[in-house]
Amino acid sequence: MDLDLLQATLAQRGQPAFRARQVWEWMARGASSYAQMTNLPEALRDDLERSVPLSSLTLEREALASDGTEKALFHTADARPLEAVLMRYRGGAKHSASVQTPSRGRRSLCLSSQSGCPLTCSFCATGSMAFGRNLTASEILDQALHFKRRESSARHPASPSESQGAVPAPRIDHCVFMGMGEPLLNLDNVLAACERLPDIGIHPSSTTVSTVGWIPGIDRLAERDGPTIRLALSLHAPDDALRSELMPVNERYPLADVLDACRRWHAARRRRVYVEYLMLGGVNDHYEQAIALAALLAPRTAFKVNLIPYNPTDSSFEGSSRDAIDAFRSALEERGVPATVRLTRGRDIDAACGQLAAGAGAGADADADARAASAAPAR
Ligand code: SAH
Repeated sequence: MDLDLLQATLAQRGQPAFRARQVWEWMARGASSYAQMTNLPEALRDDLERSVPLSSLTLEREALASDGTEKALFHTADARPLEAVLMRYRGGAKHSASVQTPSRGRRSLCLSSQSGCPLTCSFCATGSMAFGRNLTASEILDQALHFKRRESSARHPASPSESQGAVPAPRIDHCVFMGMGEPLLNLDNVLAACERLPDIGIHPSSTTVSTVGWIPGIDRLAERDGPTIRLALSLHAPDDALRSELMPVNERYPLADVLDACRRWHAARRRRVYVEYLMLGGVNDHYEQAIALAALLAPRTAFKVNLIPYNPTDSSFEGSSRDAIDAFRSALEERGVPATVRLTRGRDIDAACGQLAAGAGAGADADADARAASAAPAR
């Protein structure tokens, strides 16, 4: 919902200030019509129905992966495409396979901060589509509200048993900005959206912003007042030459400077930075590169590595083998660097990390797992 339009419309109608809050509270709980907002006068509900659309986004396409991951392709009022992903996990917060007793499944959102992305990382599908623009805070929130409405309705495709009342209803309680775009290039709107996410049930400490290493944004996150939002850094290479090849932004903000900014963030926030490292076969997955990476990540308490299996895009890269990923992880852990491997989800609908390219035909990726990695190491 365009919250500015809502405010303006209510003001125009001479409505008291608390009306906007009432409408928002309904939306945040997953309301799918004004008719449900029974504490609003009926005439006002009818009026709003005509003048303020329930969402600032139009749903264009949806896809449901075999693992329960769901992707939605939207467009904005000015026809900019974007995608968002909901990851559903059965059972407990971490490794569902080991959970014997019924418990509610975790739900994690992967949101886009921009339509397209200006940064052209060579391995990422979003980078190859045209950059549109920054999304507004309302457009970011509307991605979350779409899935909130979805989950509030009776249908839970990933967990039929949960809808039979045997366990508490699942809640969307994690969010990662790992969809399209670079969130730190749109930080004001991302933070404005984050301020409202708790109303939807997502705490700041369960919200992760993932960045290519946009230093001014990292510094702002370190210095800002307010609760700590988690920080993830897309690193992908242990030296400047390779990183610049993979991620052109490295020319502007080289590795050492980005890591210094992460250390400042860590010092201010007292949380580990999640280092994301995409595993590209024969490119960045050699043993020596693991050692070089471990040497960079000091102090040990400031970082945690999440190795990301490559999700196919139109690029010429190939993912590392499972053995190479395991060996890389062991090399890190032997040197005291905590490392996990991201569990990839949604690949069969191009909803995995790096596959999001809305409108480009192939599908844009929002690696479900990346987001999950924020609070729940996959493996
Ligand atoms: N611009 C931000 C957030 C969007 S990308 C960033 O770069 O962090 C979210 C994550 O998906 C990043 O870690 C990114 O490197 C990763 N990713 C991109 N392409 C991928 C691919 N093809 N396979 C797996 N992960 C990919």
